[in-house]
Amino acid sequence: MATATPRIALDTPVTFLKGVGPRRAAAFAKLNVKTAGDLLWLIPHRYEDASTVSRIATLRTGADATVIGRVISKGVLPTRKGLRIFQAVLQDESGMIEAAWPGQPFLDRAIEKGDVLLASGPVRFYHGRQLAPREWVNLGPDDEGTAHGRVLAVYPATEGLSFKVIRGIVDAHLDQLLPQVKEYFPGRIIERAGVAGIADALRMVHRPQSMAEAMAGRDRLAFEELFFVHLLHQRVKSLAREARRGIRFENRRNLTTRLRESLPYVLTNAQVRALREIVDDMCSDRRMHRLLQGDVGSGKTIVALFAALLALENGYQAALMVPTELLAEQHHRTMTALLEPLGVTPLLLTGSLPARQRKAVARRLAQAEPGLGDEWPELVVGTHALVQEATAFARLGFVAIDEQHRFGVEQRKALAAKGELPDVLLMSATPIPRSLALTVYGDLDVSILDERPPGRRPITTTLRTNSARERVLQFVDREVAKGRQAYVVYPVIEESEKLDLKAATTMYDELRAGPFAHRRVALLHGRVPADERDDIMRRFRDGAIDVLVATTVIEVGIDVPNATVMVIEHPERFGLSQLHQLRGRVGRGGEQSYCILIGDVGPDSRARLQVFVDTEDGFKIAEADLRIRGMGDLFGERQSGVPTFRVADPMRDAALSDRARAAAGDLLAVDPDLRARDDAPLRRVLGERYARAVELFHVG
Ligand code: ADP
Ligand code: MG
Repeated sequence: MATATPRIALDTPVTFLKGVGPRRAAAFAKLNVKTAGDLLWLIPHRYEDASTVSRIATLRTGADATVIGRVISKGVLPTRKGLRIFQAVLQDESGMIEAAWPGQPFLDRAIEKGDVLLASGPVRFYHGRQLAPREWVNLGPDDEGTAHGRVLAVYPATEGLSFKVIRGIVDAHLDQLLPQVKEYFPGRIIERAGVAGIADALRMVHRPQSMAEAMAGRDRLAFEELFFVHLLHQRVKSLAREARRGIRFENRRNLTTRLRESLPYVLTNAQVRALREIVDDMCSDRRMHRLLQGDVGSGKTIVALFAALLALENGYQAALMVPTELLAEQHHRTMTALLEPLGVTPLLLTGSLPARQRKAVARRLAQAEPGLGDEWPELVVGTHALVQEATAFARLGFVAIDEQHRFGVEQRKALAAKGELPDVLLMSATPIPRSLALTVYGDLDVSILDERPPGRRPITTTLRTNSARERVLQFVDREVAKGRQAYVVYPVIEESEKLDLKAATTMYDELRAGPFAHRRVALLHGRVPADERDDIMRRFRDGAIDVLVATTVIEVGIDVPNATVMVIEHPERFGLSQLHQLRGRVGRGGEQSYCILIGDVGPDSRARLQVFVDTEDGFKIAEADLRIRGMGDLFGERQSGVPTFRVADPMRDAALSDRARAAAGDLLAVDPDLRARDDAPLRRVLGERYARAVELFHVG
């Protein structure tokens, strides 16, 4: 009896588990696994389907196959093109085959002679049959057919914990742990959503009998992640609605109508629709918290300007915050021209203004003078100086934040906290599909500009190889000779040994010594001090620079209508949405514009880049980007307001997300505070997982 295994509970520390010593416990801690229960939540990141393993002798070229074989020899081969290939010969009881991983010489350290590999991919003919593993797992040297006939869960490994060790430990304790897991979702939600119960789901993700089971288990976990995010979003919204502490503007049709009449163009249908949504919000007694998303050039600025005028004609100040000084100046200039006939003079506030001027603007904003007679309240355009310079607003009623992802959550909040709890309009030029927007921006209302102002010429976009480089540069030079300007963009500032990439600094020297020797060339990148950067951009805008060699710093909405060429080298290094932003820098004037990508790219990159070459629709491009590269790239770290998901992929799981949103809405409709007894387990889990839930639901 003394040797009976102690009962393992969900809260038993992992150190007490068989097979886990202090070293492995430390490694588990890095994966956020401290207890046996946490182990259940260490979700496999992929599966290998070993239920259809082929005998090596039977493999035919031209088909996909999965094999399990022992490495009997291996090595790294150089090729003529300079690419290095890792090769290994795999053997099972029926025969052997060569497997090749081009461009992955580092695998020589991860795969040893004697290791057993599970690998799947196409079988090709290359001096005999050759397997090109698309996916593979190293089962280690002492594998006795554990994988055969099963769907193998592959866990994210970490130093000191191979996926196999994790799998062994999870598998050894699964039967003891699962019966202890209690469902926390009310039965009706599970039923209506058609997802598995939690214990079943965990069994299926860790020990699936088939790929379909693994996916069904995953769906339940994805569903609950999406459900919780929607629940929190909807709660934020309903609390805001209850608070009803917004300004109630009146649609006086004074300044807004006059702008509409003096505007040199008519608004697009999309602009009219978005504006109606915004005006409705502003005229209600709750506070507006709306995101306006639209492609580059879809005309977001004018929409924001109408909203600002609505505030002004109600006696409130309005502010537009933008990420760069240059953009502030640009908006300020266009607005000044548009508002001149209305007798409104916008103010500009940026960090580089002389201190005296800055103070004068700040003083005016702080003065509590309600708009009387022909004096309208202030409309100010500025950078983060609007929040930084301790700027006080006497009567701020409306705030628009352009290129909102360029600001941190804190900066956005700081501006929104000024004045009298102003209505807030966020603007984003990374358009994403509506269903995805509803998931990631679920706590905001969303308006979409899905239409472009008429009369825009399409930009000619091409993908060229390096062999065409010289001709491309000659073409650029001819455009410059015609009086146009060009951008040449590189992925990195400086060359490095690790990455074999052309860099902005070296190419700047090369271009200005060679192909553009007789042109005015300048260099712009993130390490150029901000004031110098603005100065260079100003000179480019004023036509004093012909060719601007740059990194992605030029991405943000700068408007130089005379620039007609955008050359991008190493395009494979950029996300599609990023390329789209870059391309948006040209095609802003009446002349035909060009976007030329130069690079010798592999077939995968070529296919991806082709999407960009073929369309100018930012929604399509963002969607492709999301499918191929996932959420991380589109929402960089700066976009810190966006929820992160461990299992769910809000893009691929759009249908599941819709169900989760509906379920969250249903639940809150009957139990808005989650106080019902039935909902107590759900409330507890919510509180454990989401810090925000504590304030939102007073759980704890
Ligand atoms: P973005 O959405 O990228 O911020 P902007 O607001 O800068 O786009 O608008 C791009 C250009 O389109 C500007 O020059 C603007 O004057 C023009 N524009 C906006 N709306 C219209 C319209 N309805 N008709 C014609 N031109 C428009
Ligand atoms: Mg803009």
